[in-house]
Amino acid sequence: MGNKIKKEIISSINKIISSGFFIGGEEVDNFENKAAKFLNAKYSIAVNSGTDALFLSLKALGVRANDEVITSPFTFIATAEVIANLGAKPVFVDIRPDTFNINPELIEKAITSKTKAIIPVHLFGQPAEMDKVMVIAKKHKLKVIEDTAQSFGAKIGKNMAGTLGDTGAFSFFPSKNLGCFGDGGMVATKDKNIFEKIRLLRNHGSSLSDKYKNLILGTNSRLDAIQAAVLGVKIKYIKDWNRKRIVNARYYDENLKDIREIVLPKIKEGHVFNQYTIRVKNRDKLALYLSKNGLSARIYYPLPLHMQPAFKYLKYKTGDFPVSEKAAKEVLSLPVYPELQKKQQDSIIKAIKDFYEKK
Ligand SMILES: *Cc1c(COP(=O)(O)O)cnc(C)c1O
Repeated sequence: MGNKIKKEIISSINKIISSGFFIGGEEVDNFENKAAKFLNAKYSIAVNSGTDALFLSLKALGVRANDEVITSPFTFIATAEVIANLGAKPVFVDIRPDTFNINPELIEKAITSKTKAIIPVHLFGQPAEMDKVMVIAKKHKLKVIEDTAQSFGAKIGKNMAGTLGDTGAFSFFPSKNLGCFGDGGMVATKDKNIFEKIRLLRNHGSSLSDKYKNLILGTNSRLDAIQAAVLGVKIKYIKDWNRKRIVNARYYDENLKDIREIVLPKIKEGHVFNQYTIRVKNRDKLALYLSKNGLSARIYYPLPLHMQPAFKYLKYKTGDFPVSEKAAKEVLSLPVYPELQKKQQDSIIKAIKDFYEKK
């Protein structure tokens, strides 16, 4: 982050310190308005994390114990964890091999009389196939929560990812495209009832006009004013940062395309590259080689959710979601963040080339 932006952030944090108003309040309202405007979403509700954005969405949409919710097993644990924490059952549907996103052609087979909702994940910054998901949801009267934790600013046609379903859940965890200085999240929705419900849920169900009158049972999922202040500054630059991520991604594409052992990410319109994720042969060895050379590459995700110990009780087995399982063995995410220098990118490209030439 440049010095100019740092100064801007420090000055807005200083204002919070002087105001003594640390939770919720004007700064949070301001950020919510800016984010809603950016996304062209009717309503936005800032919450404590992306996990809570998903959890409160499910709760507000009426998902309850023993309901089933469909999602992908190739995602961060939070996507399915929130379903389970409501007593509902995560039902997994495999992904497309090229985009890593839920395969809409497999969704209908997973729908039962208990299915209440679908959570498509816009993984790595690439939008899921929302048009197809929405058609299925409409046909079966299911709610749709877009897990947009990795895709702030990604576009689906003219729309922003996170504004097509019943709600969109965003995360501002520091490593996301739009990150704050701690935990933070947000829900976007076009539905006034859902908006009002989540606004109550995030603050113990307290009446907005009478704090100690609790209308429904909620929780504490308020956003800190300092985080809102950071986000209020950073959101001005998100378009530019996302553009830089795309430039960095294209540079990898150009320079890695001739290596036979690498499958480049499929880039559809609207991708904002929270991760630049390639598929490679000998993934673990390459990752080790890069790390030994002081270069960072990460594995998102080494174990699909149906194979996680925490989800053992769901009784899925190895082989149930072959595309996800194969992806987990082959994926490698290369640094693509906006401040990444060409020089650093060249070192990574060279190291990858060296690795495959040596073999
Ligand atoms: C980061 C992330 C979350 C959770 O967000 P937190 O803010 O860390 O709670 C949920 N889903 C996906 C796909 C994520 O990447």
